[in-house]
Amino acid sequence: MDKHGFLVDNHGRTINYLRLAVTDRCNLRCLYCMPEEGIDWIAREDLLTFPEMLAVSKLLVGMGIEKIRITGGEPFVRKGTVEFLYDLSKLDGLRTLTLTTNGVLTAPIVPEFRQLGIQTVNLSLDTLDRTRFFAITRRDELPAVLQTLDQLLFHGIRVKINCVVMAGKNTQDIGPLAALTKDLDIDVRYIEEMPFNGSAEGHAGGHWSYQDIVQHLQSAYPEMHRLPEEPYATSMNFAIPGHKGRVGVIAAYSRSFCGTCNRIRITPQGVLKTCLYDNGVLNVRDMIRTGNATLENAIREKLGGRFVDGREAEEQSYGRQGVHESMAAIGG
Ligand code: SAM
Ligand code: SF4
Repeated sequence: MDKHGFLVDNHGRTINYLRLAVTDRCNLRCLYCMPEEGIDWIAREDLLTFPEMLAVSKLLVGMGIEKIRITGGEPFVRKGTVEFLYDLSKLDGLRTLTLTTNGVLTAPIVPEFRQLGIQTVNLSLDTLDRTRFFAITRRDELPAVLQTLDQLLFHGIRVKINCVVMAGKNTQDIGPLAALTKDLDIDVRYIEEMPFNGSAEGHAGGHWSYQDIVQHLQSAYPEMHRLPEEPYATSMNFAIPGHKGRVGVIAAYSRSFCGTCNRIRITPQGVLKTCLYDNGVLNVRDMIRTGNATLENAIREKLGGRFVDGREAEEQSYGRQGVHESMAAIGG
């Protein structure tokens, strides 16, 4: 086995989780993520190639990364993602390979997940209503997403549904999504909307804080109770008596979980982010392309100067104007 390190940041937090965005392209146009016309897509030559992604993943796994999540944009719109997953699955020292997908193109690939060692998948689904699905994603793809959900369940893959909550858009979907957990052993996680929609307008919907979401769930399920916190969890999880699955709330905007943050990100163009709210701390792509042998040290140095939390990262990186980048260019 290759040497496997242990990464700790300047605040004593273990770093063992990489979120790797393989593309910024997407086949949906979720209101909270990008404008109708899309974003200024990254030029092909500026994207990390799959061999470059594999090289940096291998380096990071050797340094202490144990879990890699493939995200985007939509991972499966980039040709070669499935083959890349096979390459990643063979990395010595990688314990968990997983992905986040919108489910539009995913159903036919699900039968391969077990072979890839993928045990859990995050599926984005903000509503079970076809009209609202179209209003939120600007595409009529709910049937394809539901087919992916069926396939995941059929193949015994653990499913975590991600629902971004927006007042005036889909708060009426909180209940029906939670109801899925009655008969299905899945997690439904409600995420506070972050202002990452690629426009200067901040939030696409009205803001619902995690407290609003929890209260709403509690009024529907008064018996709901909090589950013990899992290590590094970003969600507060709850059990509903009589339900096979669980519900959870992610305070992505309130940022209540920064104290245990174990993750780093690499954007589609190969920029390292040590916080979702920073604007990139190291151009890994250029270092790889110039054969710079100091990449490992440069990464360590950046982890040694990590922001204490998302508020500090946002203030220092963007100042008072705040973040307006599209989540598709970051990876979520
Ligand atoms: N396209 C894939 C998908 O939607 O699952 C993967 C990439 S997407 C950027 C990753 C996650 O970020 C999704 O679960 C999505 O709901 C979430 N996301 C995107 N924009 C967001 C925002 N402004 N606030 C909160 N979550 C957001
Ligand atoms: Fe695409 Fe995912 Fe962004 Fe929706 S959230 S537009 S599916 S990248």
